[in-house]
Amino acid sequence: MLKAHQAQVASIIPFSWVDGPGNRFVLFLQGCNFNCLACHNPQTIPLHTPRARVMGVPEVLDDIRAAMPYISGITVSGGEATVQHEFLLELFEEIKRLPEFAHLTTFIDSNGNAPEYIWESLAPFTDGVMLDLKALDDASHIALTGSSNEVVLESIKFLDSINKLFEVRLLLVPGQNDSDEELIKTAVWLKGINPDMKIKINAFKSHGVRAAARDWPEVGESDLIRYRSIFD
Ligand code: SF4
Repeated sequence: MLKAHQAQVASIIPFSWVDGPGNRFVLFLQGCNFNCLACHNPQTIPLHTPRARVMGVPEVLDDIRAAMPYISGITVSGGEATVQHEFLLELFEEIKRLPEFAHLTTFIDSNGNAPEYIWESLAPFTDGVMLDLKALDDASHIALTGSSNEVVLESIKFLDSINKLFEVRLLLVPGQNDSDEELIKTAVWLKGINPDMKIKINAFKSHGVRAAARDWPEVGESDLIRYRSIFD
């Protein structure tokens, strides 16, 4: 019996190969509990906006059915997907309950700012979480996102302990969070949790960000070589 939560939906991509493993249906939920200067989609930060589409689980399932021949899984992203965790839980419960969706994997793309009880509720119906770590240093994290990373670091440890952490993604911004010292500390901390932790580096691009970050330098080839030398 459906509990009939409804979601504020920012957008849907019926077919993507950059939002997790394989070809995926991606649901972008509205609302985020961070306020990143480097956010490429700041219009998704408020939970309520006239641009959002209000959708129930049955409507989303219908959209998934239409994309079914082309996809191997579903990713729920944002904004921050876990802000609307009750809807997310109901959606993933249905996907895992209905035999027609049995071949689809369920992934969450998250900023990690969700307490353990939310991850505990989602875990039985979630195949993997792709989690962003904006900065290991808390002062850098606060400067970049407006919030502490305390909950994010706990999420990384908890999700890894229950084998639900698919990868940690680092959005590196030259001069903001990419010093050798900080990256070495980050590599040591992540590998200390799990030596096989999958770490993905995303390079900052200024396109679409707000005025405060528009003049920040983009990641160049020499930066990428340096990042690789630390994380490989
Ligand atoms: S966590 Fe993601 S969606 Fe939220 S403000 Fe930061 S970049 Fe934007």
